[in-house]
Amino acid sequence: MHFSVTSRGDDTSNALRKKIIDYLQEFGLKLNDETPDIVITVGGDGTLLHAFHHFHERLDETSFVGIHTGHLGFYADWKPEEVEKLVIHIAKTPFQVVEYPLLEVVVRHHNGPQSDRYLALNECTVKTMEGSLVCNVDIKGEKFETFRGDGLCISTPSGSTAYNKALGGAILHPSLASMQLSEMASINNRVYRTVGSPLILPQHHTCLLKPLNDVEMQITIDHKSMIDQSVKSIQCRVAEEKVRFARFRPFTFWKRVKESFIGE
Ligand code: NAD
Repeated sequence: MHFSVTSRGDDTSNALRKKIIDYLQEFGLKLNDETPDIVITVGGDGTLLHAFHHFHERLDETSFVGIHTGHLGFYADWKPEEVEKLVIHIAKTPFQVVEYPLLEVVVRHHNGPQSDRYLALNECTVKTMEGSLVCNVDIKGEKFETFRGDGLCISTPSGSTAYNKALGGAILHPSLASMQLSEMASINNRVYRTVGSPLILPQHHTCLLKPLNDVEMQITIDHKSMIDQSVKSIQCRVAEEKVRFARFRPFTFWKRVKESFIGE
């Protein structure tokens, strides 16, 4: 089996990365940063998000597992002191894989036919660099509302505990192949009206955002951010692709939610 280990880059994470590489090589596994079967990330959720984007072209062949050297993460749920146990699991057992849904985002521009396609593990957010975002929101090909406010967030089920949660969105179990649209401070009065509640859309439903004002847009895909002057539309739907996580022990989604947000 071929493996890769990525680190957040701090001394603790780098030392742990080195230790994992040495252990796995002692077990006869091959270090391969190009085409790994398993990617072990050391750091936090951000480290796993970076690794996901780095290996986004081989999601069918690569599984991810995360170790946290800071606080418990959603994706990075192994503790540093469990590394020996994790290494033995990876080396000795065919591991179980769980697949989570992803978000497909297609950005189209005014000045040309080309579009850009992205995959998000957590979410896509759309904001403006200055002033309010004003955009039409079409759902499944029909106009739903005109949004005016700070921005919109479209999240995956596993991303529902991240930015989406801070916006008052619901927490969704990742077995639900869906996406959630949540508002950032919508302006609601006699002139402007939005639904005001987060919406959960199933697979095969598209959500199309069409900006109405000519302003610079800031689009984020997980930790990545881009600024674009000529956005014609942003189309979101549940992606065909899925992300694969290597599972070596039961640690249910709801247990992770409880441990992260409620505690003992
Ligand atoms: P970061 O360093 O600012 O970390 C953001 C926090 O989000 C970390 O505590 C991380 O553990 C947590 N997080 C990431 N994914 C999560 C998930 N699926 N469920 C629960 N918590 C999660 O930024 P980063 O590490 O580069 O991560 C980027 C993510 O930060 C974005 O995808 C977005 O979800 C999140 N974010 C949140 C807010 C907010 O809550 N107001 C604002 C901006 C970005």
